[in-house]
Amino acid sequence: AERGNIIDGAGYAKSLRDRLAVHVTNLKEAHGQTPCLVVVIVGDDPASQVYVKSKGEMTQAIGMESRTVRLPDTTSEDELLKLIDDLNRDNVVNGILVQLPLPKHMSSLKVIDAINPDKDVDGFHVINAGKLAVGLDGIVPCTPLGSLMLLKDAALAHGDTLAGKNAVIVGRSNIVGKPMAQLLLNQDCTVTIAHSKTKDLAEVCRAADILVAAVGRPKFIAGDWVKDGAYVIDVGINRIELDGKGKLVGDVDFDGAKDRALAITPVPKGVGPMTIACLLNNTIKAFCLQNHFPVPE
Ligand code: NDP
Repeated sequence: AERGNIIDGAGYAKSLRDRLAVHVTNLKEAHGQTPCLVVVIVGDDPASQVYVKSKGEMTQAIGMESRTVRLPDTTSEDELLKLIDDLNRDNVVNGILVQLPLPKHMSSLKVIDAINPDKDVDGFHVINAGKLAVGLDGIVPCTPLGSLMLLKDAALAHGDTLAGKNAVIVGRSNIVGKPMAQLLLNQDCTVTIAHSKTKDLAEVCRAADILVAAVGRPKFIAGDWVKDGAYVIDVGINRIELDGKGKLVGDVDFDGAKDRALAITPVPKGVGPMTIACLLNNTIKAFCLQNHFPVPE
């Protein structure tokens, strides 16, 4: 049977953004209003600066309004909470994203939970996490949502369905692992969540028809941990030095895993580009729900 299909996350993300751009045009024509996303960044973490810049550019590229609020890392938690309160009340603002990580003197849980859940386009608010857990329609975190879109598309391409498959997610963070597990459970997968205390992780992974790696360790998942014919989604983004040059690698040993996997996401150009595309998707959805417009399919 065929193996080693590379899932084109960058290409899928591009076509999703193209579809979203059409929705934005249609919404403007029908209602004379433009969805607006506000990204807040505190401090000057270089990786966060890059993400925020690219979020702003992508937002504008599909015709939406983008605002970026840059605050110094001396900002107090109260000042940030006040800003969020102002943005919550501002009817022009449809989506609010506070870039993580926040400086150490702030509680990210407290800050995220200050965002109006209807404007929480990252889907990290406890209300949105709770809706996902009980199967209500809410805002779903971008990286797991994008990962699910790629999985569904890969399954479709092989005349396959996700229902009934053994899914193993390595990682249990609130932003990736846990919501990914909820999404796959909602797809009728049999879901295992593995983490740093899991025993015999290699064996757990070898049972996976769907393996999602969200660990944050370069090439941590060895090729021979991958079941023959599995779908592999590599969420990891790790910067390593190779031959004196900086390079991005995933949590999966791609070269070792590729020939065993039926389909696998590369790093870069896999899950990464889907995250921002899903952020735009969530902002349009939030805009429509706030204005009681039907959410475009
Ligand atoms: P976290 O650090 O929050 O979580 C990592 C998880 O991996 C934890 O649950 C941890 O277990 C588990 N883990 C760590 N070491 C081991 C081990 N030796 N064996 C088994 N499990 C282990 O990371 P995130 O979830 O935020 O991110 C995961 C990766 O995804 C990172 O590389 C990050 O850069 C990337 N990422 C990519 C995004 C994208 O846009 N593509 C977006 C967000 C993240 P425990 O809970 O027991 O500590």
